[in-house]
Amino acid sequence: MSVESTSVSSDRVSFGLVIGCEWREAADGKRTEVRSPFDGRTVGEVAVASTLDVMVAVDAAEAGAAIWRRTPAHERAVILNRAADIAEQRADHIAAIISAENGKPLGEAYGEARRSGAIIRLSAYEGTQLYGDSLPLDANPGTGQDKAGFTLRQPVGIVAAITPFNYPALLVLHKVAPALASGNAVILKPATTTPLTALALAEAFIDAGVPEGVLSVLTGPGGLLGDALVTDPRVRKISFTGSTGVGERIASIAGVKKLSLELGASSPTLILPGADIEKASAAVAAGGYVNAGQVCISVQRVIVHRGIETDFLDALLPKVAEIRMGDPSAEGTTLGPLITEKEATRVEKSIEQAVSEGARLLTGGERDATFVSPAVVTGVDTRQKLAQDELFGPAVAVTTVDDFDAGIDAANGTAYGLAAGVFGGTLSEGLCAMREIDAGSIHLGWTPFWRADLMPYGGLKASGYGKEGVRSAVEEMTEVKTVIMHG
Ligand code: NAP
Repeated sequence: MSVESTSVSSDRVSFGLVIGCEWREAADGKRTEVRSPFDGRTVGEVAVASTLDVMVAVDAAEAGAAIWRRTPAHERAVILNRAADIAEQRADHIAAIISAENGKPLGEAYGEARRSGAIIRLSAYEGTQLYGDSLPLDANPGTGQDKAGFTLRQPVGIVAAITPFNYPALLVLHKVAPALASGNAVILKPATTTPLTALALAEAFIDAGVPEGVLSVLTGPGGLLGDALVTDPRVRKISFTGSTGVGERIASIAGVKKLSLELGASSPTLILPGADIEKASAAVAAGGYVNAGQVCISVQRVIVHRGIETDFLDALLPKVAEIRMGDPSAEGTTLGPLITEKEATRVEKSIEQAVSEGARLLTGGERDATFVSPAVVTGVDTRQKLAQDELFGPAVAVTTVDDFDAGIDAANGTAYGLAAGVFGGTLSEGLCAMREIDAGSIHLGWTPFWRADLMPYGGLKASGYGKEGVRSAVEEMTEVKTVIMHG
């Protein structure tokens, strides 16, 4: 049965699945409610896809990809730029949906939704820039000027995009927009807790004229739908953002496919002698608690030189005390709930465990249902779980070091390597940190919590491989053929 996307007010939103740009119910008619992590109220309703819907979506994508890859890049760009305009016009509505289903304060949700137009436009442009190289074949001994060679960049075909809950618009658009711009069909599987934002954005692409077959959104259980999508040989590229555990599973079953894995993190920020303490503490107080710390580039770990630790903590604590926990839709709230009570309990227990092992809780860490108050934990040894495991919660773990080398060792002392920040130090130390810290992004003079949508973005080590950022994503969602003309 075909249904309208019954998008209504921001109070309660209802959607079907998107199969090849058509709104449909799930094959078995199953639906589920989406609830607010703040107060448990129902904020929307979506269809629950099964593996049968995955098959139908991949069939549609095969047909859609064949048309879309032959659509001239300038025509694709016109449609995407129209989608950017629509997403911009609907930004306030989309922000209300983000805040309702994810629980982040409305102000943060506006910030996220209002980036949509720019991400889609940047992607639209990059999709028109599929350059190749000409090959100087005659430099190869035995080859003369009777041949000419060049490379041709083309879309991969079908991209499966699997996204997490924490930035339900941003992370969806960083996959869907470059995939469409470069001529692919996309099947999106958003997080079960935050499907409404993804569907509202899909509506913008459909309304802009993305043709039949080209875009599908399957809402439903990640394990079931993920396995079906990841193992389907017709899917050529999997672009995954989520936990390292799920990323490992995807890598183990994907077979011969292109993979981008944007995974977990435990990002460090070094505070060295000479740091602007006011600036560093303000940046940590923002980057450690935004989105209740549910950010892959959250400031999870601060590694501070012993000589300035007291000054730094004296500057940090009053700023953390200013964080206002409460109703995400209320003005002035700067810290909302975690995504589920289970997650809040996990974060609470991680902090308790660190304290039981000898760390000191200076403030926060108390749980009330889905909320955890903003915490600062000092005296954390990098070998402790609070540093080793991704926390994904509103706490900053402080480790004290006696010199620069110990700081670099601590920064590199976890399995992860997504992003790092450095304040202070000498120019030589900055240059050394840039080369020696194993992280996909290094911020000298800021924390890891910073991203421009055009910059290459992705982790090292257990934080994954592959890069996003629209130019990089277009590159990873296309393939190069070598063409030789034999005279
Ligand atoms: P998650 O549990 O790994 O889920 C991510 C997505 O994968 C969801 O759509 C989920 O569906 C789906 N999924 C679950 N099992 C699957 C399977 N077996 N095969 C394929 N897909 C499957 O992550 P999350 O809790 O939503 O998000 C938090 C994680 O994302 C953190 O680790 C964070 O660091 C990471 N993250 C990384 C970046 C980065 O750029 N490196 C950015 C943001 C977030 P269901 O929701 O239905 O389970």
